Amino acid sequence: MSKLVIVGTVAFDAIETPFGKTDKILGGAATFIGLAASQCDADGAIVSVVGGDFPKDYINLFVQRGMDVSGLEIVEDGKTFFWRGKYHNDMNSRDTLATELNVLESFSPVVPEKFRNSDVVMLGNLHPMVQLSVIEQMNNPELIVLDTMNFWMDNTLAELMRVISRVNVITINDEEARQLTREYSLVVAARKIMEMGPKYVVIKKGEHGALLFHKNEIFYAPALPLEEVFDPTGAGDTFAGGFTGYLAKTGDYSYDNMKNAVIYGAALASFCVEKFGTERLLNLTAKEVRQRLKQFQDLTQFDIELT
Ligand code: AMP
Repeated sequence: MSKLVIVGTVAFDAIETPFGKTDKILGGAATFIGLAASQCDADGAIVSVVGGDFPKDYINLFVQRGMDVSGLEIVEDGKTFFWRGKYHNDMNSRDTLATELNVLESFSPVVPEKFRNSDVVMLGNLHPMVQLSVIEQMNNPELIVLDTMNFWMDNTLAELMRVISRVNVITINDEEARQLTREYSLVVAARKIMEMGPKYVVIKKGEHGALLFHKNEIFYAPALPLEEVFDPTGAGDTFAGGFTGYLAKTGDYSYDNMKNAVIYGAALASFCVEKFGTERLLNLTAKEVRQRLKQFQDLTQFDIELT
């Protein structure tokens, strides 16, 4: 098994969906990534920052799942990153109502010594300069995966482009791929993003699944049609955590294995949306994951005769 470094926000979220509303609950990109990656027993470390207001019980959730938290800085007199979002009725789009960077504003990440030789680096959503600093601390990783969002495209595009040029895989949603490339066709957008650096592009399409692009090849992972979708927050990060966790666990970074990783990520993301925030991921069993992977197989397997 290879080691995995995860950088991203560890946050408080306040979420409103057509089904309900939460006050400050546990959230953040690195949180969802870490919880997802721990489902595949990946040997992972979380690199992030929180304020003194962040409950120790939340940190213990990572520790209990085997995550190294020595790179999770606590700024005792600071406040934790806070995000507030509200979903539209279709649940596929949302408005960000508040983003308070707080302790993230002056964060210098430190990758724990014993994780500097990790094979896989998952750069979750946060300031591109922090992502860059993590890349620079690593000792020749096999695979660097980047997730980002429109907030950083709007505010720090030049820095983000520097990160994009240094990664092997980017995961991005359809709207953001269009914003980044000013192309409507996702095929053309993916090609343009590959020209910026990454050899692989994953475009997430919410309830419409995800596309994996490599050279001229495309692989499609559906999203499981679910009876209940409660809160899509963190689905993209959960996908990324499942994707990188699977790759780190198997140690195979080929295009063929990335197809499996995309399915694994999609399966974990399908759980995430069933409850608010991290609730479903925190109560997930290995048996449930296996059953869901089987459902994915059944959903897409067919045996047509090509004449
Ligand atoms: P997702 O739904 O996968 O896009 O991820 C939502 C998570 O990302 C929430 O838990 C937020 O705390 C976190 N988040 C929201 N905005 C940002 C941002 N600008 N940078 C980093 N993380 C963010």
